[in-house]
Amino acid sequence: MNRIKLWIITAVVLMSMTGYLRLYMLIENGTITVPSYLNLVSLIEPIKIESKIFGHSTKGKPIEGYVIGKGQDTILLMANIHGNETGTKLLLDQFVAKIKSNPNIVSRKKRLVIIPLVNPDGYEINKKMNANSVNLNLNFDTPGWDTWGPLGTYAGPKPFSEVESQIIKQVVLQYKPNMMISYHAQGALVAPEESQSSFALAEWYADETGYTYEGSDSSDLNFWGTATMWFVRTTGNPAITVELPKLTESDWDTNKKALNDLISSNHVF
Ligand SMILES: [Zn+2]
Repeated sequence: MNRIKLWIITAVVLMSMTGYLRLYMLIENGTITVPSYLNLVSLIEPIKIESKIFGHSTKGKPIEGYVIGKGQDTILLMANIHGNETGTKLLLDQFVAKIKSNPNIVSRKKRLVIIPLVNPDGYEINKKMNANSVNLNLNFDTPGWDTWGPLGTYAGPKPFSEVESQIIKQVVLQYKPNMMISYHAQGALVAPEESQSSFALAEWYADETGYTYEGSDSSDLNFWGTATMWFVRTTGNPAITVELPKLTESDWDTNKKALNDLISSNHVF
């Protein structure tokens, strides 16, 4: 009886090793090398890319995105909360396409939550505001909140009156990101919220891209009601705003190093 068991176990082990080697050779294009532990893990369990619908806009359009990987360090990247800043969506779309072509560029310590288009109603008609003419990036519940924002823009009847900002809140509460990067246009600059860890993250991103670092003394970048201010005050984690140089272009070549380093490195800001 024991001998039969031993034969069965040996057969199973040999079969699985053969299968593994075939798979490995296929992926490595016939090159036989000694696979590292990481390669072995990645073959058994590839980085998972989940497409999500996080909710629906005022006009009922899906607010789509991705959850990639399942590491401890969760990064929230969001764009196009202002509907006319379409280069920001392009940037995150390009980033997701890059990850899809090689998911293993994402560190197993990371989990990415990516929302390329927060404001699909504004995007459709190339307008900054949402369908209720609200500036969504003034609709988050922060100290100093008011109905009217800088330059007379409408922040909504009350904080979180809009479904789009409610969806971002829900995503943050559900996934508990360790950082938020919110992409806007236009400016070629990186602006931190008011916290030491946000300053560090913004300095790092500015360094990686060559964009101007807008320090905390720039009061016009620290509006009340913004997604980033709400995020920092709610979670205590860092948040930065990246302003791309052009409204309708992604500036991928400038941002790709920062994005790749963000998901592959072990930096925790
Ligand atoms: Zn903006």
